[in-house]
Amino acid sequence: MSALRLSPSISITLGLVSLTLLLFFMLDTVVGVVPDRHAQLREVREKVSTNLALQLGSLLQADDREILRETLRAVQQRDDDILSLGIRLNDGELIAQGGYHQKFWAPPPDGKSTITHVQIPVYMQDRIWGHIEISFRRPEAESFIAWLRQPDIALPAAIFFFGSILYYLYLRRVLNHLDPTQVIPDRVNAALDTLTEGVMIIDRRENILLVNEGFKKLHPDAVKACLGKKLKQLPWLYPAIAAQTRVLPWRQAMESEQAVSYASLKIPQPGDKIRIVSLNAAPVRDSQAKVQGCLITFSDVTERERTNSKLRLALNRLQDSQSKIEQQNRELQRLANYDQLTGILNRRAFFERGEEILRFCVQSRMSLVCIMSDIDHFKSINDNYGHPVGDAAIKVVASLLSKNTRHNDVVGRYGGEEFCILLPGLDEAQGFEIANRMRESIERLAGKGVRSIEGLRITSSFGMVVQTSPDQTLPELIELADQALYHAKENGRNKVAILNDLNETPRLAPGAAEAASAVEAG
Ligand code: GH3
Ligand code: MG
Ligand code: MG
Repeated sequence: MSALRLSPSISITLGLVSLTLLLFFMLDTVVGVVPDRHAQLREVREKVSTNLALQLGSLLQADDREILRETLRAVQQRDDDILSLGIRLNDGELIAQGGYHQKFWAPPPDGKSTITHVQIPVYMQDRIWGHIEISFRRPEAESFIAWLRQPDIALPAAIFFFGSILYYLYLRRVLNHLDPTQVIPDRVNAALDTLTEGVMIIDRRENILLVNEGFKKLHPDAVKACLGKKLKQLPWLYPAIAAQTRVLPWRQAMESEQAVSYASLKIPQPGDKIRIVSLNAAPVRDSQAKVQGCLITFSDVTERERTNSKLRLALNRLQDSQSKIEQQNRELQRLANYDQLTGILNRRAFFERGEEILRFCVQSRMSLVCIMSDIDHFKSINDNYGHPVGDAAIKVVASLLSKNTRHNDVVGRYGGEEFCILLPGLDEAQGFEIANRMRESIERLAGKGVRSIEGLRITSSFGMVVQTSPDQTLPELIELADQALYHAKENGRNKVAILNDLNETPRLAPGAAEAASAVEAG
């Protein structure tokens, strides 16, 4: 294939102009459209020369050479077409001349006149006496413009020039119907009409070459004739797409030579409605793989988008209510597991968690300390200051107990003003130390913690047990701790007692006893 590829309209124009020129030359050959300038000129020159010869003939009769010369000079000067002229006798003598005759004259071959050199015999008593010689200018044009003006050049040139322009303009106007690359056969049209998607084909200049029936459903105005218009001339489509895309999809597709798609573009409809389409623009190539246009498809996804957005809304609501339910569940869980007054585990949750810890300690052969604690003479606090102060006291004591435990320890409200504490991994001495620390901190801080009552004294008694056998159950351990607590109460309160075996007698913790007696003595 040739490297130079002309557009169809240019090649057709060239073809038509060539045909017209061919017709012109054929007509010229047959009828002679262009006048033969040479023949005309020769005829004119011969006539001029003959007339001149007749005039000069009478002067020659008179044999007045001076007048003869004058006349020749005058003729040469008057007629631009004549370069020189002279009268030559048969023997070759030039008896008169006008212009530089010797310079311009060249005897024509065979004595026959040519278009530039005309010689006419002068008769004297029926004998040729001599010749009048005239040198004419060459008929060829001297400038390019003059050359162009010659009818045999100017006519075909004008046909070529103006013909090309007119044919081209005409072809451009009817391009859509004539350009073979753009003609879409009816059967293709019919096939495209069966698609539910809207289809549009445009050329490189965004002239609309085809729209199918599906396209006409995109907007009430889409039914109007689109063919031959530019895409820009569809006011219901072009601005909407331009506003929603950075580069117009069809332009991007033709420039990048790759398909471009948009999942959802809005096409405003009359009455504030919106149609949502997914748009796909794919470049259309010719047989040389050169992009000649673009195929744009529009799929109406309004319903799908509507359903999707409803689904999204429902999903959001579901997530909302789910998180509310989760929150409520957490609240329920909290209410179910934690004591409302103190915020520590309630009895049920304490047992649940306690069983887990016990299992873990048995499995990992870890020691476990269980402590029961009860506020001393609590009834009198209630009686003297009222239930709300009693509640405040319970709260403060629970918080002090929690502060003296580690992350893995468990503190639960066992009942009224009784608490149960599990300390995994501690031996007897460590258990004593913690219990005593709790006792001390209650004695020192609990009274102050109840702000509404000045100088309130609050103490607690503690009973503890260290697990001695893996077979011991949580209630058994609690029972032992409770027995120890009873012992602490019996022995003056604000004390820590220990009992590891029901067969033994509970013992008071060392140090605690001294502290208690010191307090009592004080
Ligand atoms: P002791 O030193 O022997 O333990 O004497 P105590 O007065 O503390 O005796 P007891 O343990 O029998 O008294 C518990 C009292 O605690 C009985 C009950 O009225 C009161 N009580 C139980 N639960 C609550 C509660 O939630 N709030 C308040 N303010 N009082 C409670
Ligand atoms: Mg009690
Ligand atoms: Mg009590």
